[in-house]
Amino acid sequence: MKDLQAEIQLLKQKRKAIILAHNYQLDEVQEIADFVGDSFYLSKVATGIECEVIIFCGVKFMAETAKILAPDKVVLLPENDAGCPMADMITEEDLRKLKNAYPGAPVICYINSSAAVKAESDVCCTSSNAVKVVSSLPDRQVIFVPDKNLGTYVSQRLPAKEMVLWPGHCVTHAQIKVSDVEAVRARHPQAQILVHPECDPSVVALADFAGSTSEIINYAERSAAKAFIIGTEMGVLHKLKALRPDSQFLLLHPGLVCPNMKKTRLRSVYEALRNSQHEITVDEDLARRARTALGRMLEMAK
Ligand code: SF4
Repeated sequence: MKDLQAEIQLLKQKRKAIILAHNYQLDEVQEIADFVGDSFYLSKVATGIECEVIIFCGVKFMAETAKILAPDKVVLLPENDAGCPMADMITEEDLRKLKNAYPGAPVICYINSSAAVKAESDVCCTSSNAVKVVSSLPDRQVIFVPDKNLGTYVSQRLPAKEMVLWPGHCVTHAQIKVSDVEAVRARHPQAQILVHPECDPSVVALADFAGSTSEIINYAERSAAKAFIIGTEMGVLHKLKALRPDSQFLLLHPGLVCPNMKKTRLRSVYEALRNSQHEITVDEDLARRARTALGRMLEMAK
């Protein structure tokens, strides 16, 4: 493993590459990354980064987003078939039909979506800025795709908005049920329960805090509590344990492991760098339109 890490460092310098990793990646991948964070943070990093190659350790929509925001860079996805089931739950054709059914309503599209869906949207959002983005729009009625749970989370905070939702969801977060929260509360009454807004609204309603992976990490870092129950993908435990070695972290559900996020290993990063494999390309017209939607998000969320 040490040899592989050293090889990656050498290849990185040779290729003038930067490694970006999502908070849900395996510990070994987070440890060799130059930047680790949530989708919003990594989008901002991709926009301004100085390098020739971006190795994106995450899932396909994230690498596509990096390519759209940094079109002059070579973007490599170490595991070619690391996808996101939620992003696949809506197509651009589905979205066009929805737009026809609600003419005039602007479309806010969660970053967990394909480049083609982003291109059909007015503005993108991430879980850390969704409320801000939706509240910045003057329209009362808005279309929000594809995550129904994040859309519900936003609509509960912005009751003046009429939000048209799409029935997409994250299969990993959907495993958490109210009974899991109740059981953990009874067993660990002192612990703080921190969940992601991709969880079912009934779960979010019982939590002490809901936020993006970075917001969960920031919350735990500042909290006076010493025990936390985490309701998002287990990859965040790596940073949480490093930041709060004095505290106890437990997962709200044993199934909080995204199989797609866990496909990338040190070996995949090494091979992507060595063989320049799995380069992400995005059709130019789609990329231009998707960049407009992403650019609006970056502007609104400042
Ligand atoms: S955790 Fe859920 S939303 Fe995130 S990549 Fe995996 S399936 Fe997609």
